[in-house]
Amino acid sequence: MNIIKKRIGIIGGGQLGKMMILEAKRLGFYVTVLDPGADCPASSICDEQIVASFDDESAYFELAEKSDVITYEFEHIHAEVLETLSQQGHTIYPSVKSLKTIQNKYSQNKVLQENDVPTPRFEKVENPAQIRAAAEKFGYPMMLKATMGGYDGKGNALIRDDSDVEDAFAQLGNGANEVMVEEFVPFEKEISIIACRAIDGSRTIYPVAENSHKNSILDVTIVPARIDDAAIISATKIADKVMEIFDGVGTFCVEMFVTAEGIVSVNEVAPRPHNSGHYTIEGCFACQFENHIRAITGLPFGDVSLIQPTVMVNLLGESDGVSELVGLEETYKDPNVKVHFYGKSESKKFRKMGHFTVVDKTVDGAIERAERARQIVKIVGI
Ligand code: ADP
Repeated sequence: MNIIKKRIGIIGGGQLGKMMILEAKRLGFYVTVLDPGADCPASSICDEQIVASFDDESAYFELAEKSDVITYEFEHIHAEVLETLSQQGHTIYPSVKSLKTIQNKYSQNKVLQENDVPTPRFEKVENPAQIRAAAEKFGYPMMLKATMGGYDGKGNALIRDDSDVEDAFAQLGNGANEVMVEEFVPFEKEISIIACRAIDGSRTIYPVAENSHKNSILDVTIVPARIDDAAIISATKIADKVMEIFDGVGTFCVEMFVTAEGIVSVNEVAPRPHNSGHYTIEGCFACQFENHIRAITGLPFGDVSLIQPTVMVNLLGESDGVSELVGLEETYKDPNVKVHFYGKSESKKFRKMGHFTVVDKTVDGAIERAERARQIVKIVGI
């Protein structure tokens, strides 16, 4: 009989950590969170919190002592300490090896390319002259990307033409940070797939989600994605292959572009549950967080098929101040809407404060209900 690991350590106590805990607690696991914020979203529901900076090496060791398995809710963490812990015999999922490759957008793309997974063409650059040389091959527009630390488009600069080169290079640190250029994909749709891999290598792949962004921040996810069957099949095959390549245990997200011709390429991979997978909480029998917890504790997966069309809308802070959710009563007059309020005490304009999910018998019906709800429910700062 397998021994089920019962003490889980999570690095990061934001909304993703909190949602992992909700699933872990249903199974009675003991959860310790490492997060610098004493009032982080996970603080109200974890069993224990280590309040320390993500740079504090001793905090990682303390977390390891309190856990049978360690996981994380974001990838910009101290990989070297995790490597030491792993060498000492602590269990960390997804593996430190996959984390290190994915943390750097260049090494991530490189591994994908070596394994014949389609990505936009890319090249590491060190100065404006090299950016211009890359433009000879890729053409304008082009994306300049910091290889490390980017999220929600921070760390990216669009180079529309030759006159943008210096500005874009300066925006990303004028050579102080490692950067790369990427061919611009004239995509018709952005999609993502949540996929999970178990310790024994078995995998399960969620349906394709269609995402739209505002200011590089995810705004709406619609499932099933409104793309043709051939693109669904290629995207699903790509996601499965990515899971095989990274050899990771747990939930991953593969973000992809689809062009008007139906060509699918990978934008980036996240070694963790993802905002674009929140729809799985109401849309699927076992959500991305549950299957993450199942994977890292050695349990078989729950069913990932879509129960009915689902739309997720992010709720960003509308203003700065102490956060308050408004319009809930009115929103809940539609019984098919469910609101998630992450419990961040401070609202800031554009900060991810919550989301809501809508289900309906049809995609159009779910979109219509979501449009109505988004006029009503808001998170503001007072
Ligand atoms: P982050 O890691 O900060 O989320 P991404 O690299 O995913 O940043 O980029 C954010 C957004 O910028 C993407 O969702 C997409 O809309 C756009 N983008 C990124 N790379 C490209 C590209 N090569 N071609 C076209 N658009 C891109």
